[in-house]
Amino acid sequence: MGFLARADVIPRSITILGSTGSIGESTLDVIARHPGRFRVFALVARSRDDVLYEQCLACRPRYAVLMEPQAAERLRRALRGAGSPVEVLTGESAACEMAQAPEADTVVAAIVGAAGLLPTLAAAHAGKRILLANKEVLVMAGPIFLRAIENSGAVLLPVDSEHNAIFQSLPAGFRRGLQGEGVRRLLLTASGGPFRTIPYEALEGVTPEQAIAHPNWVMGRKISVDSATMMNKGLEVIEAHWLFGVDPAQIQVVIHPQSVIHSMVEYADGSVLAQMGNPDMRTPIAQTLAYPERINSGAPAIDLFKLGQFTFEEPDLRRFPCLQLAYDALAAAGTAPTVLNAANEVAVQAFLDGRIRFTGIARIVGSVLDRIGSELAESVDHILETDQRARSDAASVMAMTA
Ligand code: NAD
Ligand code: MG
Repeated sequence: MGFLARADVIPRSITILGSTGSIGESTLDVIARHPGRFRVFALVARSRDDVLYEQCLACRPRYAVLMEPQAAERLRRALRGAGSPVEVLTGESAACEMAQAPEADTVVAAIVGAAGLLPTLAAAHAGKRILLANKEVLVMAGPIFLRAIENSGAVLLPVDSEHNAIFQSLPAGFRRGLQGEGVRRLLLTASGGPFRTIPYEALEGVTPEQAIAHPNWVMGRKISVDSATMMNKGLEVIEAHWLFGVDPAQIQVVIHPQSVIHSMVEYADGSVLAQMGNPDMRTPIAQTLAYPERINSGAPAIDLFKLGQFTFEEPDLRRFPCLQLAYDALAAAGTAPTVLNAANEVAVQAFLDGRIRFTGIARIVGSVLDRIGSELAESVDHILETDQRARSDAASVMAMTA
């Protein structure tokens, strides 16, 4: 399969799915440093019309899309008042249209969670150059998404820092599947999050504020909680499995609390190639935006003397049961990762809303996986049905244990 092949087109016109989020804002920051090189075609977000309004004035896209109709109406009025020609649309079908519009050659997939599936799939069917941050798409529907990419000739570039590091450390022209490339293993680094060293007994009582205070990265709330449970690393193991065509046994998670080595590739001859940098998402975003060229991202250079040392640890699966659940879901295959992802989204939201404890996240995801099991993932509709079923089941499990 050739979806990680070198892309020849220099991106000119970009749709950003999830422009008001952490990745969306970092993408706009990189784009603003290179006027003339990139043009924004469309910005898509859920509900933050005030942020989208500022973004529209700053980068003047053709279209702005909000999921919430009332927020879209407020944005439309505000832009009209400011004399801006940006056209405002609303709804998921408009997001899909922006992702497949012929006027855009590049789509940055940075919606959080399952909500990004259909627009990102639309970009895949339309043969776009896809800069993928929205890992949940690969977790939910890996084979279906990759088939769409293969059939359309789309190009997939990984933005997630670990996968971007692996992409940069693999042989040039790498296609997919490690056979014949002399690669032994992928070493996927993880910071271990904010609760790596606190006593086990204290995990039960941690608050959402503590969970989203990541030691090294500033990110959206959902991925921050996922980092604290290490479900994020579990989702990334599944992401790496699909992206690089590797067996789970060839993916080793390595805790590296400094978050400077973003991941590594171990070769048959004993060489280990790593990509390093400050924990700043503008680096992988710039690498994928300009690929195969290199451009300034705005990220400061690393100061090795200040850093002093790098350390590594094996993950503790008792502390981080979500990581094991992700390995289990990947082994169960079929729709199990879809179930894992949906149950996790529901449980994380419940934790953020103060309805369940931190340790309840793994318990809920584990129960839902046991209750629903795995089926062959047949179609997008089947994936979406499974996602809904797992969400209702997670809600019932929470109601039973409340
Ligand atoms: P965020 O919460 O900061 O932003 C999410 C964005 O998605 C917002 O623009 C929001 O409006 C939009 N959105 C949410 N629901 C939507 C819907 N139904 N329709 C349209 N838009 C919707 O999240 P983030 O941290 O930027 O993460 C985005 C994705 O990138 C996630 O999948 C995350 O796992 C991945 N990622 C993030 C980072 C990071 O450093 N933030 C790193 C690696 C990967
Ligand atoms: Mg990551």
